[in-house]
This record gives sequence, structure tokens and C-alpha cells, in this order.
Amino acid sequence: MNEWSKETIAARGGHPLPAAANQPAVEPIYQTAVYTFTDLEQVDEILEGRQPGYFYARFGLPNLATFEETVADLEGGSAGLVAASGMAAITLALLSHLSAGDHIVAAEELYGGTLGLLRSALPRFGIRTTFVDATNPAAVERAITPETRAVLVEIISNPTLKLVDLPALADLAHGRNALLLVDNTLATPVLCRPLEFGADVVIHSATKYLAGHDDVTAGILVGPADFIQQARELGILMGTTLGAFDAWLALRGVRTLALRMERICRNSQALAERLSARREVRRVYYPGLPAHPQHDLARELLPRGAGGIVSFEVAGGLEAASTVLRRLGQQGIPFAPSLGGVTTTTTHPGKTSHRGLAPEERARLGISDGLIRLSVGIEDPADLVAALDRALEGLTP
Ligand code: PLP
Repeated sequence: MNEWSKETIAARGGHPLPAAANQPAVEPIYQTAVYTFTDLEQVDEILEGRQPGYFYARFGLPNLATFEETVADLEGGSAGLVAASGMAAITLALLSHLSAGDHIVAAEELYGGTLGLLRSALPRFGIRTTFVDATNPAAVERAITPETRAVLVEIISNPTLKLVDLPALADLAHGRNALLLVDNTLATPVLCRPLEFGADVVIHSATKYLAGHDDVTAGILVGPADFIQQARELGILMGTTLGAFDAWLALRGVRTLALRMERICRNSQALAERLSARREVRRVYYPGLPAHPQHDLARELLPRGAGGIVSFEVAGGLEAASTVLRRLGQQGIPFAPSLGGVTTTTTHPGKTSHRGLAPEERARLGISDGLIRLSVGIEDPADLVAALDRALEGLTP
């Protein structure tokens, strides 16, 4: 366990200290598919773990190991496993732990890809999921069966920014011999370390804040060494390994994670407050606002800031949302349905991530036609506020 603070771990990620003499200041990119061996003895030594070394890129590379160790340290976990995407990380976490006949209790407001995996793919392999309102621990408790081996939640839901009571869910899961798996993509370890609140395994789409620049797709899991080893073995068989350059890029992003999250949270708070004051805006979703129904829980779980996603509903429905999105795009705030980069972007959940849901289901989840989601970046907040003001100007309140 690394004794450094999160800021220091992030900034120094990948720099073993004290450095040996005359090393490159930045880890080189090990762009190789295979390693060479001097003789069969060395093959035995490395493959049986008596000597450090690498074998074949699908089994791992130094850039992957450095990224894994850095994020494991940031999350305060024993071990990490990088994967080719956030979805690959989620798939490995579930498939390495579950077998046919096992059951999952999952939040109904998960990322659409995760919902698809649980709803369409896993049932074909005999793994069933019950979806619940995970903001309500009693609903989670009712859904747990003797077959339940995992409770899967996101720390902050997207796009309606609901939080889960991690300590309560950890107690419930552990009381029934299940693991609590937490997708911490939206908070990052800078804002919340779910393992400290009792979670067993943390999952990230590193595509988002960890890498942070919209230029790499990656995922990572952090958890107990035996869990991670099992997932690693499955990942080698399934071929979910990340490439060396992508791991290098992701680690480069992590170096500025603490700074970015601090600025992103400050900007998000400013935008959420401004949007709350605009007559054209019907409702603002941001856990940092005192009006958020779980504001107290947000202060407990996310004391350093409530993250970088701000959603808001414009009064004029789809037409007004379309106008706002177009006007923001014209001012250089693009419509780009991802999140977690350094530039502010927008999306329309109803037309993108939740497009496949029936209108009644969308309405039940609060995803109206007028709902816009911002992924807030690190720009000058005054510029962002001015752009939003201009985008909303003249719309019907
Ligand atoms: N988890 C969350 C919360 C996400 O938002 C996403 C992607 O948007 C994923 C997981 C999947 O990550 P990836 O796109 O890297 O596979």
C-alpha cells in the first residue's frame, strides 16, 4: 500500500523511487508483441514467477503493469488489471467471478453498455440480473437471493446524478456472501475511494477521467489480489489486453488527474449554480447543489467535489434542447456523447445513451426530451457560464 497522498501518487505515477542511475525520465513505450528468451531455464523462471519478466503482449507489458500499479495505489487496493475498454473491465470482473446459475443485483441506472451486457449477453450463459433502484438499500436487500454473488452499482448515475449509499450496500452484500462491485468512473479515486467505504472491487472506464483527453479507450479493475489474478487469467484467454501505447497515454493522463478533477468540480459547481438561476431551465441535476435530494450523502462520499457531470432540463422540450445544443456547438462546446475529457462537451441522453428505451421508461428515469448533459472541462468558468447564458437567451421560460 502506497503511503503517498493521492495527488502525489497520480503525479509521480510510474516513477519508482529512488531511481536507478541514468534511466529515461518517462517509461518508454514497449511496443512489442513478444519477448525473447536466452534459454529454456529462463522461460521456466519467468513463467513460474521466480524472475520478473514478460512473455507475450497479451499476457502483459511493462506499460500495462505501471498503469495498473498506479491506479491500484490511487484506489487504495491490492492489485489492478487493465483492459482494452471499460466494458472489457466490467466483463472480466463479472465473468471471472460468476458461473451459470449465479445472480447479480444491479442498479437500474447503469451505463447503457453495462445494461446491455447484463440484459442481453449474460442470460445466455445462465447469469441472471435483477435491476433495482440502488439508491434505496431496502430495494437492494429485497432483490438479493441465495444465488446472488455480486451487487453492481455506479457511484454516481448518469445522466440523472443519483448516488448510492456505499457503506449500506457493502453491509448488505457482505451479509449475504456477495461482493460489492462499484463503477467509479464518474468520481475517480481523487473524489472517492469506494474500497474505503466497503466495496470489494472498483471498475473504471479509463477512457473517461483517468486518461482524461478523449484520445484513448481503456478500462481498469482494482481489488483483492486473488480476484484480480482470476480476472487476469480470464483476460489472457479472452484477449482483452490493452495495447502498450494506450496504457502509456492513460498513465500520462493520470499524472494530472488530481488537478483536473479539482478544476472540473469547481467549474461544474459554478455551472450548476448558474443554470439553477436561469428561468429557461426547469431542473438541474448536480449532487453539489444543496437542492439535490442526496446532497448530504454527496458531502459524505464526495467531500472534495461532486464531479464533472451536470445535467439540466430546458423548459421547451426537444426543440429547446436542440437549439441549446446547436448554439453551444457554434460556440465551440461540441455535442460529443462521451465524458471526462479536458474540454466541455454536451450530449442529449434521450437521443443517444437512452435512445433504445421506451418513452415511458425514459420518463420514469427522469430522462425527458429537454434533458441535456454537460461533461464539464477545465476551461475558464466565466467563458462556460457566458456560453450557456448565450445558448439559453430568448428561449421560452
Ligand atoms: N462505465 C461508465 C460509467 C461509462 O460511462 C462507460 C462509457 O461511457 C463505461 C463504463 C464503458 O466504458 P468504455 O466505453 O471505455 O468501454
